[in-house]
Amino acid sequence: MTILHDPSDTHESGLLTVDLTAMVANWRQLAAMAADRRIDCAAVVKADAYGLGQAPVMNALAAAGCRTFFVANLAEGELARRLTPEATIYVLDGVTPGAGDRLAAANLRPVLGSLAEIDEWAQTARALGRPLDAALHFDTGMNRFGLPVREAGAAAARLAENPGHVRLTLLMSHFVSSQLHGAPINARQIADFDASRRFFPNVPASMANSSGVFLPERPHYDLLRPGYALYGGNPTTHPDNPMRPVAHLRVRILATHDVLPGETAGYDATWTAQRPTRLATIGAGYADGLPVSASARIDKPGGAAIVGGVRCPFVGRVSMDSIILDVTDAPLAASQRGGWAEILGDSIGVDELAGRAGVIGYEILTRLGRRYARRYI
Ligand SMILES: *Cc1c(COP(=O)(O)O)cnc(C)c1O
Repeated sequence: MTILHDPSDTHESGLLTVDLTAMVANWRQLAAMAADRRIDCAAVVKADAYGLGQAPVMNALAAAGCRTFFVANLAEGELARRLTPEATIYVLDGVTPGAGDRLAAANLRPVLGSLAEIDEWAQTARALGRPLDAALHFDTGMNRFGLPVREAGAAAARLAENPGHVRLTLLMSHFVSSQLHGAPINARQIADFDASRRFFPNVPASMANSSGVFLPERPHYDLLRPGYALYGGNPTTHPDNPMRPVAHLRVRILATHDVLPGETAGYDATWTAQRPTRLATIGAGYADGLPVSASARIDKPGGAAIVGGVRCPFVGRVSMDSIILDVTDAPLAASQRGGWAEILGDSIGVDELAGRAGVIGYEILTRLGRRYARRYI
């Protein structure tokens, strides 16, 4: 059970507690899953560490011994460099046109995904008169980032034309469906990645995102590359999540209303009371990242929150700044104005809220609002 910060001194309507101890434990757990001891575990901290705060997350992981980080873009990379002067930092967006000098100045390693990017990075290196490090990404099925596998030979030739300019420190590819064990595309992607790697003997490789770490094929290579699982998302196909929850979100009860059968609640009256019902309005809504798609109608349940240890369903439409809960079954003392409703925590994880909203847990995390008070433990 996580010991949470006491919210009583919080005057914001929501309190987001980020359990960095659990996050570091998740990183250690993933690192321990590596197929052998030589394999390193990186951390993907793009999008403000999946909404939980790039600086506190990186500081905690660096203190725990994490030496390799992946960010999405240059600005995230520059922040990562200020936070961790010694770490290896890969920028997944690669070299955006003209960004070579700034990437080099911050000692960032772009993840190169085309011959044009190889050329631009080599040009930056030539201009600076020193070799520059980079990763090379092979696209084995996403058709999103990376060189097509058939261009592996051309990429090797291009790098050979620029001797001493670009030093490859990592070969990468990314799974389409690593959460689906047994999907034929996983084996095909691994085979295609292995075929591209043959052109680059002795360069370390990385393929496994969070759920890739758990694939029966164990495509761990030299470096694991998890993001979601670090932050408490479930990387497995089982409902039992092996990761510890990291994001704990509690929202204040602002008002209560007792309604009779037949009365409605919320915009467009999409919910109607079936029994004498006690409603509580809490102070967070879709502007705080709680999806409208978690709204509840009488024929379609939506999200839920824990009040006084009791699961209380959302009622009606999620509003911009508020959600109505049915707290009829919750202890009266806990469900009064000033009480707290737990939206995310030990009982309700990001995957459950996402499932009830028809979105993915990654989206729940990365949209967590800016209006919450934040505590790091
Ligand atoms: C986001 C990302 C990851 C991390 O994926 P998770 O599913 O969050 O573990 C790894 N590799 C690449 C290329 C990514 O874009």
